[in-house]
Amino acid sequence: MARVFNFSAGPAVLPEEVLLEAAEEMLDYQGTGMSVMEMSHRSKAFEQIIAAAEQDLRDLMQIPDNYRVLFLQGGASQQFAMVPMNLMKNGVADYIHTGQWTKKAISEGKIYGKINVVASSEDKTYSYIPDLKNLELSSNADYVYICHNNTIYGTKYSELPEIGDKILVADMSSSILSEPVEVEKFGLIFAGAQKNIGPAGVTVVIIREDLITEDVLPGTPTMLKYKTHADNNSLYNTPPAYGIYICGKVFKWVKKLGGLEAMKKRNEQKAALLYDYLDQSRLFRGTVVKKDRSLMNVPFVTGSEELDAKFVKEAAAAGLVNLKGHRTVGGMRASIYNAMPLEGVKALVEFMQKFEAENINL
Ligand SMILES: *Cc1c(COP(=O)(O)O)cnc(C)c1O
Repeated sequence: MARVFNFSAGPAVLPEEVLLEAAEEMLDYQGTGMSVMEMSHRSKAFEQIIAAAEQDLRDLMQIPDNYRVLFLQGGASQQFAMVPMNLMKNGVADYIHTGQWTKKAISEGKIYGKINVVASSEDKTYSYIPDLKNLELSSNADYVYICHNNTIYGTKYSELPEIGDKILVADMSSSILSEPVEVEKFGLIFAGAQKNIGPAGVTVVIIREDLITEDVLPGTPTMLKYKTHADNNSLYNTPPAYGIYICGKVFKWVKKLGGLEAMKKRNEQKAALLYDYLDQSRLFRGTVVKKDRSLMNVPFVTGSEELDAKFVKEAAAAGLVNLKGHRTVGGMRASIYNAMPLEGVKALVEFMQKFEAENINL
């Protein structure tokens, strides 16, 4: 068996321990004589799995009691529609535009109401987080929307926008569990699981209770109302049961490592290794303004498309895979989520040093 270091942006690396445990339980989950894949979502065993997953996530993120945790399907992309369908009362929302994922959220939001882009970093290829002070928010905006970590461009909010008493909605698909966040500052947080939590197919939504109402846009399908899922503890219909089971194992793994403060330290250490190297390299350079650098997604370039392609190819041959940048950006991107071990980043930096020495004078 040869495992590689997988720098994929998503679906992404999972903790080896979690995969091994799942393998051990594949044929017989804790004496039930069946796999979790084969199990009724109404069974005692599964009820315990989903309840434990929720509790562990609550403990990790210190989610206050007046928030609900939902395990949904449809990916983060479905939240681009579900958020306006459920939260738009005045038909207006303010969005901060920081890349491909807010672009998609904005165009989806426009189907349902008026979307004001109150700040944008489009002018410099989304290489920074826009100024968050003195935003000209719409007085009647139903919510303010951000993408907390921009998976494609490698930027992250180090502070939250000043929005007074407005409701803050955040797409945390690629930053959830990477460091502590103050959940009470948000009305709604959502995340597709396949970056930092578990397998694709699960979307976690953390929503303040008072935002869960029947007062949704006309025509909103039952399945797209938060209330449907909240009233039924995410068991209105068959949930992505096996995915939730793996997410639960990842939550336990994060807890075992010391929780989100410990994850943050670990992630800062990994990211610093890579950024410090990039900052002194004569061949490679990072593409993001220093103060807005992501801990999770690190884009970098050589400045030559040919060298970039050569690097990606040779790195893959050395067991460092999925380093090609997003198709819209080019260059390289190393996604170094929670489950990427420090050894993976060390191996990457060593490989980059070697590549630099061999190619600097070409
Ligand atoms: C991956 C990603 C998405 C899209 O997630 P899907 O689950 O594929 O819909 C949305 N937002 C961010 C920040 C992402 O990283």
